[in-house]
Amino acid sequence: MAAPSGPLEIAIAGCGPAGLAAALLLHHDGHRVTLFERFDAPRPVGSGLMIQPTGVAVLARLGLAERLMARGARIDALLGLQEKGRIALDARYDELGIPGAFGIGVHRASLFAVLYDEVLARGIAVRTGHEAVRVCGSPQRPTLVFADGARSAGFDLAIDATGWNTRLQSGARNPLAFGALWTTLPMDGCETIAPHLLEQRYRRAARMAGVLPIGRRTPDGPEEVAFFWSLRADLYPQWRTAPLDAWKAEVVREWPQIAPLMSRIEDHDDLTFARYSHRSCPQPRGGAHFVIGDAWHSASPQLGQGANMALLDAWALAAGLREGRTIAEGLRLARAWRSGHVALYQAVTAIFTPLYQSDAKWPALLRDNILAPLSRVPPITRLQAMLMSGMFGWPLRPLGLDPPDYAAIASSSAPRTSGSAQSRSPTTRQTSLPDAS
Ligand SMILES: Cc1cc2nc3c(=O)[nH]c(=O)nc-3n(C[C@H](O)[C@H](O)[C@H](O)COP(=O)(O)OP(=O)(O)OC[C@H]3O[C@@H](n4cnc5c(N)ncnc54)[C@H](O)[C@@H]3O)c2cc1C
Repeated sequence: MAAPSGPLEIAIAGCGPAGLAAALLLHHDGHRVTLFERFDAPRPVGSGLMIQPTGVAVLARLGLAERLMARGARIDALLGLQEKGRIALDARYDELGIPGAFGIGVHRASLFAVLYDEVLARGIAVRTGHEAVRVCGSPQRPTLVFADGARSAGFDLAIDATGWNTRLQSGARNPLAFGALWTTLPMDGCETIAPHLLEQRYRRAARMAGVLPIGRRTPDGPEEVAFFWSLRADLYPQWRTAPLDAWKAEVVREWPQIAPLMSRIEDHDDLTFARYSHRSCPQPRGGAHFVIGDAWHSASPQLGQGANMALLDAWALAAGLREGRTIAEGLRLARAWRSGHVALYQAVTAIFTPLYQSDAKWPALLRDNILAPLSRVPPITRLQAMLMSGMFGWPLRPLGLDPPDYAAIASSSAPRTSGSAQSRSPTTRQTSLPDAS
């Protein structure tokens, strides 16, 4: 296999956060990268995302953290109340011990735009309308096979970043019983919505509503929130045919403060139903083929880590290829650096998801009567903040990444006051990844 010291020809399938970040990092290291995307025009699918300190650490090294912050909302804590108004979950970033830490609520399109604009600015090749269905060729010279039967040229390395429904890896998808309805709504006029909190309301574990402020997608656009409502997948067809107003009334009964938001939903089609899968696949061994992001490991978004884990995977891949003497060694390093954190979050998400998505009574009783009181006792307050922020297991350490400099990131966005105009000029300040050219 070619030594990674020289520039490599690298194919990346998938223009999500994993593929785009990997393309930028590998291009910066001098490799020749080609991105393949199934859609004719790459586009993000979905609504809001929480970008955690782990993801910000990678974006900062790409020089993109401040640009993302300029489009996002500062989130200081996750606050969940159960049906009697008691606190079931209160996790705060200031417990983390990282000065000034916060999460960034963003529209998925904002993260996509920040990464994709940079890919285009750096002249990285993007081949759209290419749905990769197989990796073949020799293990040392993989080629991608596309849905129309065409094949790519041979590459030194093929990366699968095609998300949880990857066609390039085998294995069961294991969709979870619960999914969620999602939509994006303008926030102006909704004074009862806290601009810096991810808020959730639970009825036992069977119902969860959430509101995440996500900033402005464009400098002149409205300030927005992502709204989500958990729903069992088998009940989705029934929800679609039931009167929308009855459902909206149910939401408002659970959470009267968001009535102004609900009045902006006019049609079932205003909401998208998303299903999740809990799975991980083994990394391919012995060939120049690596898997990153959801294609490697996906989980319910209960802990809001997937995009952040994808960014860490991309960083690990590029760092591994820099340090390894061969491609195989570089991939081995990347896998070793990431697999502990991946396994930890797969396990933690599998344990925590039923506390918020289950028809059984015991998960909510456990959550509200045992875990919630415990979580207010130090050092469990800190442990909870570490779990929420993706920092549990110290994932940055093996990757040589520092926790983000939040003072610099916060200064890139003017203080947010609900309904006020805000300076959103994107900064072009680069941190430690100057242009390779
Ligand atoms: C409702 C919901 C809420 C979420 N909330 C959060 C959150 O708050 N925080 C968080 O970190 N994560 C969250 N996630 C998870 C997060 O969205 C994913 O973990 C993240 O997008 C994974 O990035 P990725 O690049 O690996 O895959 P994806 O984002 O799925 O991107 C895959 C890309 O590959 C393309 N593609 C797919 N198949 C092919 C193919 N065969 N050939 C070529 N291209 C292909 C797709 O079009 C897409 O562009 C959430 C997910 C859902 C569903």
